[in-house]
Amino acid sequence: MTIKKKRASRKPRVARPRNAGTMTESAFWSFIRSALRQKSRFWKPILQCKLAARRPYKGPNKRQKYEYLCNECGKWYQEKKINVDHICPAGSLNCAQDLPGFVERLFCEVDNLQVLCEKCHDVKTKSEKNGKG
Ligand SMILES: [Zn+2]
Repeated sequence: MTIKKKRASRKPRVARPRNAGTMTESAFWSFIRSALRQKSRFWKPILQCKLAARRPYKGPNKRQKYEYLCNECGKWYQEKKINVDHICPAGSLNCAQDLPGFVERLFCEVDNLQVLCEKCHDVKTKSEKNGKG
């Protein structure tokens, strides 16, 4: 008689129904999410929002031409320290049902956008995540 090895109780394998059997459902949706976010970098209202918050910089750094006003703390920052924030956040994209709302909110007009500094943006993002949990 052959002794059957008792299988270690493994977690059931995650199904990979997407992309020729190579992608899980959640990998697929994060792939779509990042593709859409990439496109939003060239969305004109985002550029509009940045231009509206900008003024010529007159400080000691010769290579800095402009500075940007944070809509939350009211201080001025260099370009790499600011984010264009969705006032009403684009939210999660985890399934097909999320898609229409996500696209509508991500590709919004300038009235739903604001410039925030890194600090204020962090605070807002964290409070949004906590609010959902
Ligand atoms: Zn700020």
